[in-house]
Amino acid sequence: MPNDRTGYTGTCHCGAVKFVVNGPITRATQCTCSVCSRMGALWHGTDESGLTVLSGEDQLRLYQFGSMTAKHYFCRNCGIHPFSRPRLNPKLWVVNLRCVPDIDAASLPVSVFDGAHWEEAAQALLSRARPGNG
Ligand SMILES: [Zn+2]
Repeated sequence: MPNDRTGYTGTCHCGAVKFVVNGPITRATQCTCSVCSRMGALWHGTDESGLTVLSGEDQLRLYQFGSMTAKHYFCRNCGIHPFSRPRLNPKLWVVNLRCVPDIDAASLPVSVFDGAHWEEAAQALLSRARPGNG
């Protein structure tokens, strides 16, 4: 599998923000919400252990809107959004695989989260997750 190793390095465009995302990365999520669709982001969801910011934390700025739950971080110098705290669970991270050059994003199966209709999409996702979750 092309994306099954761990420790991929990602950056914003100018390189100020540098991070490591841990794999394996076997799929990606596209979100239809108003901000993700404009970003063109392909997301990889992970917990705290899956993302390490190596540099540029002081360059990050926060963008929030609507419910003010999700935290969309972007580089104040180049404007690129490398990762966010998703509204579905703000304790987790979603990492923008478009910012990780070593990931062959085109080879990944992409699932769509219909963030444009967030309440319905979240409910559908949670009810699908429930059976295996105890
Ligand atoms: Zn930058």
